[in-house]
Amino acid sequence: MIPFNKPYLTGKETYYIEQAVKTGKISGNGMFTQKCQQFFEQHYGFKKCLLTTSCTDALEMAAILCNINSGDEVIIPSYTFVSTALAFVRQGAKIVFADSMSNHPNIDAEKIEALITSRTKVIVPVHYAGVACDMDKIMQLADKYNLLVVEDAAQAVDSYYTYPAPQPPKGGALAHFISSGATKLSSQHSPFRGLGGKESLGSIGHLSAFSFHETKNIISGEGGMLAINDERFIYRAEIIWEKGTNRAEFFRGEVNKYGWVDIGSSFLPSEIIAAFLWAQIENLDNIQQRRKKLWELYYAGLKPLADTNCFSLPNFPEYATNNAHMFYLICNSLNERTNLIDYLRKHDVLSVFHYISLHSSPYYKINHDGRILQNCDKFTDCLVRLPLFYELKEAEIFEIIKIISNFFSLDHKKME
Ligand SMILES: *Cc1c(COP(=O)(O)O)cnc(C)c1O
Repeated sequence: MIPFNKPYLTGKETYYIEQAVKTGKISGNGMFTQKCQQFFEQHYGFKKCLLTTSCTDALEMAAILCNINSGDEVIIPSYTFVSTALAFVRQGAKIVFADSMSNHPNIDAEKIEALITSRTKVIVPVHYAGVACDMDKIMQLADKYNLLVVEDAAQAVDSYYTYPAPQPPKGGALAHFISSGATKLSSQHSPFRGLGGKESLGSIGHLSAFSFHETKNIISGEGGMLAINDERFIYRAEIIWEKGTNRAEFFRGEVNKYGWVDIGSSFLPSEIIAAFLWAQIENLDNIQQRRKKLWELYYAGLKPLADTNCFSLPNFPEYATNNAHMFYLICNSLNERTNLIDYLRKHDVLSVFHYISLHSSPYYKINHDGRILQNCDKFTDCLVRLPLFYELKEAEIFEIIKIISNFFSLDHKKME
């Protein structure tokens, strides 16, 4: 049986855990936590990172930092994991669900403005499959209506939002622009706009949340991270992270006693988790290379079938990169997807579908205003994820492609 996922161990996880144990500091915010946080800050340009026990926890921290109060509205795509909405619901928010694009599960940025009211406080773009949302458009709306943006970057580690290459400069204006330091990070988004540059996902919104759950590209079992890009939030984030106390400040020697100063929770993971994550981070490039190679094999092998309209392949807007978080197909109907998943299982391959759109969920549907979100519904019915993990063999991918190909060449509908 080819499993859907298999967590990849780099080999050094237990070695670093042993190191953490031997130092005698196994609670949170020790050496490994700081090494992980520094890596992300330096490598991806986040102003401040805080490891958390999950992406869900990072989103809850974000909801607290955004000062969500009862009745505040938060715009969230309906086609996403529960946590994206749950974190804000727990703070009393009313969720206004947005539809996906027709050719991609990401939020349709063109349709957000119509959902904004005087009560709107936050937009939460989810970078589905690590593919960037239209961040330029979303940040423009946030500026225009004075909203906060929290990126759900759970699937988006090591992926980017890119800008088009520059037009030939007129009279050296561009060269002057660059040499005058325009490429430095400004407090606003899009520092590389028009310069053919790129910004890492999670570094564009005011806050962002990552996941290291064992189904993601780099893992720690359960685990996550809050990235803070707007400096105004850093001080309070550290307090919320440490049960509402100013303990972090105390341990840096900045104050001579610490106490209870705000709300918060125990959002920080132990050093055991951070030590595990460090082993993964050290192998990030290798992991990414392998996943991208497997992804490309799927794409090339399935392209001929997609060209005859058996299904659609993942689609990338021109501003997005691929971090090979997942490989999926979009079938032509619910019935066909159900049959394909069954057929794969009969041939020892586990594929899965996901996201019952949140506006139709048993918990939240009574609060939905009844708008039909037809693109979300289509992905709920038709999207299927194929196995993609580090140790998946190339021969297994060819086998999976063959099985899918057989499925579509048989007149399977008559065979049922
Ligand atoms: C995985 C995931 C989460 C939740 O991550 P946890 O670390 O399991 O809490 C949230 N949002 C999206 C889009 C995800 O894919």
